[in-house]
Amino acid sequence: MAAEVIDGKAFAADLRARIATHVAKLKDEHGITPGLAVVLVGEDPASQVYVRSKGKQTLEAGMASFEHKLPAETTEAELLAKVRELNADPEVHGILVQLPLPGHLDSDLVINAIDPKKDVDGFHISNVGLLATGQKSLVPCTPLGCLMMLKAHHGSLSGMEAVVIGRSNIVGKPMAQLLLGESCTVTIAHSRTKDLAEVVSRADIVIAAVGRPEMVPGDWIKPGATVIDVGINRVAKADGEGHRLVGDVDYASAAEVAGAITPVPGGVGPMTIACLLSNTLTACCRARGLPEPAL
Ligand code: NDP
Repeated sequence: MAAEVIDGKAFAADLRARIATHVAKLKDEHGITPGLAVVLVGEDPASQVYVRSKGKQTLEAGMASFEHKLPAETTEAELLAKVRELNADPEVHGILVQLPLPGHLDSDLVINAIDPKKDVDGFHISNVGLLATGQKSLVPCTPLGCLMMLKAHHGSLSGMEAVVIGRSNIVGKPMAQLLLGESCTVTIAHSRTKDLAEVVSRADIVIAAVGRPEMVPGDWIKPGATVIDVGINRVAKADGEGHRLVGDVDYASAAEVAGAITPVPGGVGPMTIACLLSNTLTACCRARGLPEPAL
């Protein structure tokens, strides 16, 4: 039986609409406009596209968008001064420093200079620790989006076997923490995992966050499992004319076995920016002592 397609694009549009409604209410009832500041250092083309898209969607949600474009030769001291300025700005509720930074800048140092209450990427060491210990935090956007889709699909995840392939700080590890928080039995797989096929075949939930085109074939998937494909890989088209995007899962074969699956594109990707807006709204409500929206 063909898997149900989890439509991340529609899910994200719905989430953005709910955020916009809440933002409008904040303005009407409290005169508050949530604000997101994005700092981009250098001219990386992919980062420029992401930043433009984030700015556009921030404005569409009714929030204030502050873009700070700094030259590639910006020094660490200058970037830290910019972060401190944004930390102190009451109109800024969320701060995102677009990664990767140019090689001469220490990403960890810069991220950990952000006020954790404004760290809407959830990468600050305080937020990492809060998430790991099950406390209220700001959660990295991509895993948060995956969790929202999983919970919308399944309701409770309690007791389910989950396998997260990939152990990066931005996707794999926080994803595993979130699933643990939902009482899943969680396995984290990585490049040294022995017999990945066997590990994946046990899972009710498979999260693939590797960055290797179509590496998870359908015959690894337990029949009826839910497959969340985080990977975004550009591969040459068969006719050699340009590129297409594929995930880390071989969609065609996996969709024949899985119970539900996210496509690439149109699955996890659109949820990431929607969750950035959701985190900004949450940070704003916390900063002003208002109830957090149940999105
Ligand atoms: P990283 O490169 O930081 O991490 C990749 C992980 O995959 C590592 O833990 C690595 O293991 C593991 N890995 C590599 N090869 C294998 C293998 N053969 N078998 C099992 N595990 C393996 O990537 P990210 O986490 O940053 O991103 C993963 C993917 O998700 C990428 O395609 C990226 O583009 C995409 N992405 C998508 C987002 C979205 O919005 N949809 C957002 C962020 C990322 P080890 O640690 O042992 O090296």
